[in-house]
Amino acid sequence: MRFPRAAAWVLLPPLQRAGVAFTPRRAAAGALEELGNKTEGKHQKQICQIVLDHFEKQYTTELGDTWTRIRDVLMHPWCWQYAILLNKFSQSAELESALRVKGYHPAFQESLPYLPSSFRCYIRRTHGRFPAQKHQAGKLKEYFLLNAASLLPVLALEVKDGEDVLDLCAAPGGKSVAVLQCAYPGQFHLNESDVLRSRWLKQTIESFIPYPFINLIMFSTLDGRQIGDLKPELYDKVLVDAPCSNDRSWLFSSDIQQATLRLRQRKELSSLQFQLLRSAIRALRPGGSLVYSTCTLSKAENSDVINLILNSFTNVTPVDISGMAKAVSWEFAFLGGMQQHELLVLPEYGRAWGPMYIAKLKKMKTI
Ligand code: SAM
Repeated sequence: MRFPRAAAWVLLPPLQRAGVAFTPRRAAAGALEELGNKTEGKHQKQICQIVLDHFEKQYTTELGDTWTRIRDVLMHPWCWQYAILLNKFSQSAELESALRVKGYHPAFQESLPYLPSSFRCYIRRTHGRFPAQKHQAGKLKEYFLLNAASLLPVLALEVKDGEDVLDLCAAPGGKSVAVLQCAYPGQFHLNESDVLRSRWLKQTIESFIPYPFINLIMFSTLDGRQIGDLKPELYDKVLVDAPCSNDRSWLFSSDIQQATLRLRQRKELSSLQFQLLRSAIRALRPGGSLVYSTCTLSKAENSDVINLILNSFTNVTPVDISGMAKAVSWEFAFLGGMQQHELLVLPEYGRAWGPMYIAKLKKMKTI
């Protein structure tokens, strides 16, 4: 499957699309350097060389020349973009007009197969960050700053009012908040195995969601691999936003020992991801569906895990999400050649979203 914008991405030089005059490759590197020096300022971060070398080896093999362009974006935080997800529980008409004045526009169009009117997110092509809101006791935040690609798994899940939903790996809670912008689930179960991160998750929810709704949310700190056995066939929708090699943040690891350890343990992630998915399938009602997502480009943690699931479970079938990809292909760049039930968002200049892998599966009804 190929998407028209992904093909254009290959043909159009990145700096030109970002509104900077096109220069051949060498000069482009110089222009990047210059722009980087001007704008990096307070975002100064150090690349972790051992992680870069490791990615270089793996992703050159898996993605060829495409990796070079992705690497340029990942290595330059000054060109990263931030989407603004509005909080429907704390609406502000002034905020929306201020965003439009600053050149922001809605990230998602009505041509999407699923886009609730309460779900509003703004982006703009240029880099830079809208100021973050501080937590104020007794006051809900008006918006959430995030990577726009992290909203695609939520839109792919298509939660409807009254459905029972499990967010299996929920902290720090960006996607849980996004689910609640879309619909009012019947039961909403947020699980996070790490106790400290679970506190962070609760704080996020308290900053965005009013109390009458928070009281309807169930929080747990279980190992997600056990939930399927503890709550079999209980949910209509399950989100598995899995622990993964987070390509963006790993590149800027400041602790070399920790980075080395993570790289050594990287191979074990696929097995954890498979087990989380197995648990999610067990937790789904027949006829229910799940979305699996990661923020890595790694094939071993993405397509390979999903293919193994599809080969191991006869009661699970892939769901075509290519319609969603087509509807957002103006704002997001995708890797070509993926299967219809999966997408890989690739960061590029002016559309610096992702990496984000998304796959959707359905548990078949028993006859
Ligand atoms: N969905 C979150 C969001 O949008 O803010 C991000 C989730 S993050 C990619 C993955 C999370 O899974 C981490 O918070 C990690 O602590 C948690 N995790 C790791 N192993 C887990 C397990 N066995 N069961 C449940 N959660 C786990």
